[in-house]
Amino acid sequence: MTQAPIPPRTPPVAPVRRRGVCLVISAPSGAGKSTIANALRASEPQLLHSVSVTTRQPRPGETDGIHYHFRSMDEFTRMADAGEMLEWATVFGRGYGTPRAPVEQALSEGRDMVFDIDWQGHRQIRAALPGDVISLFVLPPSIEELERRLHGRASDEVDEIARRMQAARDEISHWNEFDHVIINSDLDTAIAEARAVLVAARLERHRQVGLADLVASFGI
Ligand code: 5GP
Repeated sequence: MTQAPIPPRTPPVAPVRRRGVCLVISAPSGAGKSTIANALRASEPQLLHSVSVTTRQPRPGETDGIHYHFRSMDEFTRMADAGEMLEWATVFGRGYGTPRAPVEQALSEGRDMVFDIDWQGHRQIRAALPGDVISLFVLPPSIEELERRLHGRASDEVDEIARRMQAARDEISHWNEFDHVIINSDLDTAIAEARAVLVAARLERHRQVGLADLVASFGI
């Protein structure tokens, strides 16, 4: 009985690696952005969350270093001037910004990070990290539904609701700067859609290093 010839050993190929994904999620307040981001992280504990710096006061239940890095305006300005933030903006009269070092480290290690930032941050971070960002805008199913959800939050004062609705309209006006748009009428569906965006982003060809070597090892 003749045996099939043993194929020659192919030289080892370095494993395919990839850069991390920066998943930016923006939305008007009340559209469900934080709930979606939290659900993504709950199902993937290795997914990092970019902890922003802010000059606003902590709300009840918020912890420094977990929800935000709470800093004075002087410290915020120093960080901005020193280039320690990838992007920063003023929202509701308060400073908000993304610390640069953790993002650069995560991306180079191939770890993915979720950013809960506004449209101003999205524009800047896209310019700062070309090719790394995938963005998602969450819309409410209707403006009436958004108003209803905002009534459930914080103060129900007429002025406060009107101010929040105006801020929401301003945020929504930038919907068409984003790669993907999710209409959050059903939360489970919206979470599944956000997850699909993240999975697709990971598979983008340009993000995967070493694909050409792998395919060359096939003799193709
Ligand atoms: P809040 O004070 O309710 O936590 O956030 C207010 C707004 O600031 C939200 O729209 C949130 O997405 C935005 N925001 C939070 N962190 C950052 C950041 O680092 N950069 C920018 N540009 N916006 C942020």
